[in-house]
Amino acid sequence: MSFRKIVILLGAPGAGKGTQARAIMRDLGIPQISTGDMLRDAIARKTQLGLAAKQKMEAGELVSDDIVNGIVADRIQEDDCRNGFILDGYPRTVQQAESFGGKMAGGDQLSVIEIAVDTAKLANRLMGRWLCSSCGDIYNVYSRTPKQEGVCDRCGGSLVHRSDDQEHLISERFRAYQAETYPLVEYYQQVGVYRQVNGSLPINQITDEILSLLQAHAPMTPASRGRDTKFA
Ligand code: AMP
Repeated sequence: MSFRKIVILLGAPGAGKGTQARAIMRDLGIPQISTGDMLRDAIARKTQLGLAAKQKMEAGELVSDDIVNGIVADRIQEDDCRNGFILDGYPRTVQQAESFGGKMAGGDQLSVIEIAVDTAKLANRLMGRWLCSSCGDIYNVYSRTPKQEGVCDRCGGSLVHRSDDQEHLISERFRAYQAETYPLVEYYQQVGVYRQVNGSLPINQITDEILSLLQAHAPMTPASRGRDTKFA
C-alpha cells in the first residue's frame, strides 16, 4: 500500500513558505496546498467561501478554523494528493493541527519544517513582494527580481502586490502568527516531527536544505512513534 508524504511548512508571513513549497513540489512530485491562495481565489470569484473569508483576510486576521479545515479536507481528497502534498499556510492554529491530525491515515509520513527568519527582517520582505496574477509565482525586490519589471518570468503574467502586504496589516499578521501559529512549533516538537531551516539563507540554499532534511531522516509515522497520538 502506498503511503502519503505530507510536508507542513511553518513560518511567519514572508518567511518563504510559498516560495519553498513551489520549489520542492517539483522535486517531490506532490502538490502545494496553499490555504491563502485558495482563499484569495475564492474572494476573486466571489464565492460564498470568499465572502465568508474576505473581511478577516482584509484585516490581516485569521479566517475561522472551520472554514480552512473544510477547504483542506476537501482538497486533500483530490486525486493529485494521493501520494502526498505540501501544506503552505495550514495548519495555523492548534485547533487546525488537531483537525488535520484526525484526517491522517496510519501509513502517512509527516514532516514539519519551520522556515525561521527574524521577524524584524520580514516587514520589508513583505512590502517588496510581488505575485504573478496568473500563475502565482512569487518575486521580491530583495531576493528574486523578474527579468522584466512587472512581468512574470515563468508565464508572462503581470505582477501585483498582495492587498494584505501593507504596513498597517503586516503588524496584525505578525501578531496573529505569534499568538496563534507559533505554538505549533512546540506542538510538533512534542509529536517528534519538527525540524527547522534558516530562512535567511539564499532561496536555493534553503530549498537544498529542506530537500536534504526530507531525505536524511525518514519522517515519523504514527506507528514508528510507538504511541497513540492525534495523528493515528
Ligand atoms: P497566506 O497567503 O498564507 O499568507 O494567507 C493570507 C491570509 O489568508 C491570512 O492572513 C489569513 O487571513 C488567511 N489564511 C490563510 N491560511 C489560513 C489558515 N490556515 N487559517 C486561518 N486563516 C488563514
